[in-house]
Amino acid sequence: MKHKFQVILLGVRGSIPVSGADFVKYGGSTLCVLVHMGGETILLDCGSGVLQSGSLTADAHHLSILLSHPHVDHLIGLPMCPFLYEAGKLATFYAVPRGGLSTQKQMEALMSPPLWPVGFEAFRAKLIIKDILEPSIQIGSVLVEHIELLHPGGASAFRLSYGGRSLVYASDCELSQNQLSRLSAFAKDCDLLLCDGQYSDEEYPLRVGWGHSSWSMAAALGKACAAKRTVLVHHAPQYTDDFLDKADRWLRSCHPNCTLGRCGEEFAL
Ligand SMILES: [Zn+2]
Ligand SMILES: [Zn+2]
Repeated sequence: MKHKFQVILLGVRGSIPVSGADFVKYGGSTLCVLVHMGGETILLDCGSGVLQSGSLTADAHHLSILLSHPHVDHLIGLPMCPFLYEAGKLATFYAVPRGGLSTQKQMEALMSPPLWPVGFEAFRAKLIIKDILEPSIQIGSVLVEHIELLHPGGASAFRLSYGGRSLVYASDCELSQNQLSRLSAFAKDCDLLLCDGQYSDEEYPLRVGWGHSSWSMAAALGKACAAKRTVLVHHAPQYTDDFLDKADRWLRSCHPNCTLGRCGEEFAL
């Protein structure tokens, strides 16, 4: 049976959610990506974009959630994740332990008083929370590999593979020269690369060491790993639609198959 391989960008903003008339086209919600692959329903991160996932996960009995790291822009949607309020459903969370914290502790750090009024007992779905301790795991028939990214506190890049096709998610990474070669080997020949491209090439030199990449750095990774399609995510919160539109035109003109991700954008692979 051939399963659909569909990727939907539910949130592509980095650092903090934004709203207003200047943030409609690319969206103001933080990182969350829905993947239908190999018969599995998978979320990459749980930023505020997860609020858009309700109808898209309604048919699934089991949802898998891969968390790249516990920075708040990647977890802020957790307390309001629609799937978790449906009785009879099962959600499995996965993350690499960080800073001495298990996956459960990383999640509880946000979803407990005083930062949030209730804990996991508010959810009606059954939760399974796992630590990723091996270089790869299986989610059903989907192979999930991971490597560490250069980012304050660390973050995971994930490569999801099934049926000869693959998606690489590498949000929150600073693609300095030595990182480019190891990440390019990890992402080699993927069908879709979602990569941190937070800053304009002009702004990046002012943000060295902050753990994010420029548009050109992300495009260079797409070229180096020969991704069939490269989509930049984690847009800086102050970048308006007009500003990002100009960047998108520039990217398309000098980097074939490389674009800026937009909230709601879908890819069928
Ligand atoms: Zn982030
Ligand atoms: Zn981060």
